Amino acid sequence: MTSTSAGAPSALPTVSREFVLAARPVGMPKESDFSLVSVPIPALTDGRLLVRSMFLSIDPYMRGRMNGVRTYADPVNIGEVMVGGAVGQVLQSANLRFQPGDIVNGYWGWREFAVSDGAGLRKLDPNVAPPSTSLGVLGMPGMTAYFGLLDICQPKAGETVVVSGAAGAVGSVAGQIAKIKGCRAVGIAGGDDKVAWLTGELGFDAAFNYKTTENYVAKLKELCPNGIDCYFDNVGGAVTDAIFPVLNTKARISISGQISQYNLSKPEPRPAVFGYLLTKTARAEGFLIYQFAERFPEGIAQMAQWIREGKLKYRETIVEGFENMPRALIGVLQGENTGKMLVAIR
Ligand code: NDP
Repeated sequence: MTSTSAGAPSALPTVSREFVLAARPVGMPKESDFSLVSVPIPALTDGRLLVRSMFLSIDPYMRGRMNGVRTYADPVNIGEVMVGGAVGQVLQSANLRFQPGDIVNGYWGWREFAVSDGAGLRKLDPNVAPPSTSLGVLGMPGMTAYFGLLDICQPKAGETVVVSGAAGAVGSVAGQIAKIKGCRAVGIAGGDDKVAWLTGELGFDAAFNYKTTENYVAKLKELCPNGIDCYFDNVGGAVTDAIFPVLNTKARISISGQISQYNLSKPEPRPAVFGYLLTKTARAEGFLIYQFAERFPEGIAQMAQWIREGKLKYRETIVEGFENMPRALIGVLQGENTGKMLVAIR
């Protein structure tokens, strides 16, 4: 049996818009690397449901999917719909698990409307948290901060934790978790407004703007007088190079992302850092958030509690309109967001 929210099937959409990959970018993506296509929405067969996108997630990893190379995940092929996390409302359902009106989180990509068999969809309770948070602080980026900091770095009270990409979705949460654990949190971000947000509203002990600072090592020594015990790396490149001379013995580095490298057509030559790991008997470990998937309920419950207690704050940068998806992705790669970047479809 099929049920609809409007009770009038004629009110349901018959066409959906989708963004497909049109060309593999060289360097920074361009809007012409995507094309907007209209496709008919198929009638629902048994077990399927129709969802209207409310929020679509914009994440740096999407840039990697645009290269024709398999890394830890398959690339998006030319002509295929761009991948991505999404939140939406069920409009019509022939699936017993879902009712029209339900708000769900899933991974249906850059689509205005999606038909799903329900696999991978998670019902959200809008009374518990705003649905958009399931794509940010209570979703994949939040979990990246939580497990990437706590499991990989294992920060102890009194230690100094430096976070790069600190005003983004992952970094802003990682620094606040460091504070909750009693550490000194120092952020690195690309704007004075971002630095002011970190040290003001979010309670970081110190932060600096890497775009206007000339000597990163000297700045880190000034802001981390007791050295660096933990480094949560979202960016790589010159910012990360500067961490190594300031590391303490037994320092831990959590390698979350390397966004400074994502749009380079050839890798930058890097200083040799392994010597520092050796002499400081330090440890650097990369991770993919999916290795912690089974523990997401634990992470989400803890983070939700910190939000309720006022210990954890979050911000969203919301771009309005489905047609602005490519612009929003280019924006996140250029630092136009503070906190989590989302596209809203009203
Ligand atoms: P953000 O919200 O942090 O957005 C990206 C930010 O990167 C921009 O706002 C910009 O901020 C910064 N940036 C862009 N270019 C550069 C550059 N050349 N040098 C330094 N900073 C730059 O994104 P997320 O929080 O979603 O992701 C942060 C990182 O975490 C990414 O590297 C991502 O790939 C990684 N990640 C890893 C996961 C994993 O499983 N390991 C899972 C999720 C994310 P600014 O103004 O400060 O330059």
